[in-house]
Amino acid sequence: VGEGGEITYKKIQSSQIMGSIQLGIQHAIGGLASKPERDLLMQDFMTVETTNFPHEGSNHTPAHHYSEFKFKTYAPIAFRYFRDLFGIQPDDFLMSMCSAPLRELSNPGASGSIFYLTMDDEFIIKTVQHKEGEFLQKLLPGYYLNLDQNPRTLLPKFFGLYCYQCNSKNVRLVAMNNILPSSVKLHQKYDLKGSTYKRKASKGERQKTSPTYKDLDFMEHHSEGLFLEADTYNALIKTMQRDCRVLESFKIMDYSLLVGIHNLDEAQREKTEARLRNDPGQSDEDAEGEPKKSGLNRTRSEGRDDFNAQVKRTQSINRQRLVAHSTAMESIQAESEPIDEEEDVPPGGIPARNERGERLLLFLGIIDILQSYRLRKKLEHTWKSMIHDGDTVSVHRPSFYAQRFLDFMAKTVFKKIPSSLKHSPSKRK
Ligand code: ATP
Ligand code: CA
Ligand code: CA
Repeated sequence: VGEGGEITYKKIQSSQIMGSIQLGIQHAIGGLASKPERDLLMQDFMTVETTNFPHEGSNHTPAHHYSEFKFKTYAPIAFRYFRDLFGIQPDDFLMSMCSAPLRELSNPGASGSIFYLTMDDEFIIKTVQHKEGEFLQKLLPGYYLNLDQNPRTLLPKFFGLYCYQCNSKNVRLVAMNNILPSSVKLHQKYDLKGSTYKRKASKGERQKTSPTYKDLDFMEHHSEGLFLEADTYNALIKTMQRDCRVLESFKIMDYSLLVGIHNLDEAQREKTEARLRNDPGQSDEDAEGEPKKSGLNRTRSEGRDDFNAQVKRTQSINRQRLVAHSTAMESIQAESEPIDEEEDVPPGGIPARNERGERLLLFLGIIDILQSYRLRKKLEHTWKSMIHDGDTVSVHRPSFYAQRFLDFMAKTVFKKIPSSLKHSPSKRK
């Protein structure tokens, strides 16, 4: 945070970065329209296109009020191909990225990266370090060889790599899929690595409205783990095994499984409580058979923000997701056997139960995979944690990391549902 409370990154105001990269991305996507679709060539992974954005505009760039900047687009043809692989139409991508202001997310990470979320909830833009950007560039051919063979994966899906240059500063950005829906309340969020070394959310993090907890917190909150139907459990673990094999092959470490939990029973209780507090807005909404839209036309006593939030929520829930194969359920290729038809919850969450038998929906994916074993310095903490957890043979570190990660997920975090929980829905209480 810079002077005057403005968020800054490398001393550039975040609002300026957001506005400028939207101009840059718009230009990059627009420029692609004139290039015919064709098969990918190896050199497509290496190309970089640079455009200047002077104040007054130019033949192909608009005038703007930000500082003058340069915008680099890495591997534009290759990323177009990847977006296509996930069924993202150029117009839709453009609309998501550029037609509405981005929202800045508070980042619980230590790296100082900034995260932007598109208004429609589909994409996240993350600032990355020079090394990470370079690594992604090198990773692309192999990474997408894998993706092409197997689009059902929990690995992050990268849709663009850019560099915003201003006053001789470089801000590198990756566009990727958003794992956590913001239209539904996530009662808990975890960033899990399978390590216990200093893996507890900081005090500052815990004081946030929606903190991201870590491994030790998870073990405290869910000492028995999260319970999945056997088929779902098997599909999830199989997908993670496959993904970890790919990560290990690239000597990648330090990644996490991001898990967002929506507790359906808790949400139900919250609704009831709100109704008991005699909130007219809430009870209207619950009325059976009432068309969803009525809530939008009604004059509400609540503030404008609340109203807007609701409009947006309804829009995003009723809409198909833009990115194909991207929900947690699709990623693990499991048959969806919904616990209950819940229409105000986005589709694709993985059904699960907690130790009390409450119905949960899990939203999850693997994140932060641009740390290679070779980027030694940044990984010092990871090394310490692995020595702490018993790894002594340094050459095996990526494989040790993957194994420890998988063990933790398969044994501590996720469990097959025991029959005692299976038929005891929380309705009994
Ligand atoms: P560090 O290197 O210190 O761990 P970082 O800056 O590299 O942090 P990440 O680990 O990538 O950041 O992510 C930090 C947090 O941002 C995650 O715990 C999660 O809350 C959120 N986040 C990251 N990627 C996504 C995503 N694709 N979808 C939703 N949330 C995300
Ligand atoms: Ca991380
Ligand atoms: Ca990181």
